[in-house]
Amino acid sequence: MIDAPYDCIVIGAGPAGLSASLFLARYLRRTLTFHRNSPRNEYAHGVHGFLGHDGIRPLELLARGRDEVTSYGGLIIEACVDSVEKVSPERFRVMTGAKSFEARRLLLATGLRDLTPDCPGFREFYGSSVHHCPDCDGYEVKDKRVAVLAHDDNAAGFTANLLTWTRHITLLTDGRDISNDDRATLSALDVAVRTDAIVALEGDTSTRQLERVLFSDGEPLECDALFFNLGTEPATNFHETLGCRLDPECGLVWVDDTQQTSVDGVYAAGDITPQSQLAVVAAAEGAMAAIHIHRSLIPNERQI
Ligand SMILES: Cc1cc2nc3c(=O)[nH]c(=O)nc-3n(C[C@H](O)[C@H](O)[C@H](O)COP(=O)(O)OP(=O)(O)OC[C@H]3O[C@@H](n4cnc5c(N)ncnc54)[C@H](O)[C@@H]3O)c2cc1C
Repeated sequence: MIDAPYDCIVIGAGPAGLSASLFLARYLRRTLTFHRNSPRNEYAHGVHGFLGHDGIRPLELLARGRDEVTSYGGLIIEACVDSVEKVSPERFRVMTGAKSFEARRLLLATGLRDLTPDCPGFREFYGSSVHHCPDCDGYEVKDKRVAVLAHDDNAAGFTANLLTWTRHITLLTDGRDISNDDRATLSALDVAVRTDAIVALEGDTSTRQLERVLFSDGEPLECDALFFNLGTEPATNFHETLGCRLDPECGLVWVDDTQQTSVDGVYAAGDITPQSQLAVVAAAEGAMAAIHIHRSLIPNERQI
C-alpha cells in the first residue's frame, strides 16, 4: 500500500530524528517518523551535558521528545524500516514489512552502533561504570582509577585524553602489541600499559559498579571504571543504498551546511554525520536539517 506522499520521512527517533520531527511539526509539515526504541545510549545511566536535562535517563529524554512531537501533530510509527529507495527526483519510498510510504524529503537519523568488548561482565557494567565516550562520562571518573581498553592507532591519544580527569590510568591492549612510540609517549605521561588478554570484568552487579579486570595471566587490575574505544559502525546501510557520499576522513555520511547529503532531497543528522557524537549535537543537527528541509519545500513564489 502506498500512502499519499509525506513532506518528509524521518528514519530514527533518537535525539537527531526527534528534534527534526519537532521542528517539522511546528512548520506544519506532514511528517512521518519511524521509531525503533534502541538508541545508541540506551544502556547509559544518564545523558550528561544536555543543557537543562543534564543526567536525564536516555529513554526518558526520548519519551518526552516523542510526546512533544505528537503534541504538535507529528506522526510517529514504531516500526523498523527495512529499505529505502529514490523513485524520482522528488520522491522517496520507505518500506517497512509489507507497507510502503512515500515522501518528498528523507532524513536519515539512524545513528551508529558501538563495537563492544565481548568479555564476560561487560553488559553488567556498560553505561554505569564502563563507558566509551570521555566527553560524555569523563567527569564521572574524576580522580578515579580508570582502565582503558583500546588497541588501534588512536589508543594512545584516547588514553591521554582521559588525563583531563584523572592521573590513575592503565591502558589495556587485550593481547595486542603496542608500538614503541606509543609506549614511550604513555610512559612519559605516567600511564601504565598491560598487554595481557582480558578474560572478565568483575564487580558489584547490584550497583553496576566495576571493581576489577581479570586477565589470562597475572594479577587482576583493581579499578573504578573502564573506557573502551573499539570503533563504531552505522546502524543501517540506507546511505549506501541511496548513494550518499562518505566523508573521506571519518567514513561517516558527508553533509553540507544545510545537513543535505550528496543526494538531492536526502538529509542526514546526528551520529551518522561527521560532527561530535553527543546527544545535544545530534539534536542541534536535527533542528538544522528540519529548518532546511522546510525551506526546500517552500514554493518558488514564496522564496522571497
Ligand atoms: C553508553 C553511551 C553513553 C552516552 N552518553 C552520552 C552523554 O552522556 N551525553 C551525550 O551527549 N551523549 C552521550 N552518548 C552519545 C549519544 O547517545 C549519541 O550522540 C546520540 O544518541 C546520537 O543521536 P542520534 O539521534 O544520531 O542516534 P541514536 O540516538 O542512536 O538514535 C537513532 C535511532 O534510529 C533508530 N533506527 C536505526 N535504524 C532504524 C531503522 N531501520 N528503522 C527505524 N529506526 C531505526 C534506532 O533504533 C535509534 O533509536 C552516549 C552514547 C552511548 C553509547
